[in-house]
Amino acid sequence: MKCKNKRCTREAMKRHTLCAPCRYKMQKKKYPVKRAYFTLRSNAQRRGKEFTLTLADFTEFCKASDYMERKGITSTSATVDRIDEERGYSADNIQCLTNAENRRKFAAYMRAKKQERSLALKNISTNNLE
Ligand SMILES: [Zn+2]
Repeated sequence: MKCKNKRCTREAMKRHTLCAPCRYKMQKKKYPVKRAYFTLRSNAQRRGKEFTLTLADFTEFCKASDYMERKGITSTSATVDRIDEERGYSADNIQCLTNAENRRKFAAYMRAKKQERSLALKNISTNNLE
């Protein structure tokens, strides 16, 4: 069966009336929060982050922060930040930051981590000397 979208010549997916790209576009338009939630979740899973945030949590988050209106790719766009970088995505560990703020926070975190590591190495070498 053909995709029911006019001007689309692709085959529809099994048990669906639309092809995959048309279905994706339709869902993005119709359920933007849901779509953003699943994108966030699959990105988190790809990066090996724990993800216990529910769609309801995320919907609340979007409402409170205007996330859907503010998200995007510029430095002032909103992003979903994990407050504690060591923890995953959960209702009590996310906040809305701009892209620039998020990048700055992560850079500071990496600097602190690097310093911690070099300090630990230093401790090991001095302990060995004793
Ligand atoms: Zn289509």
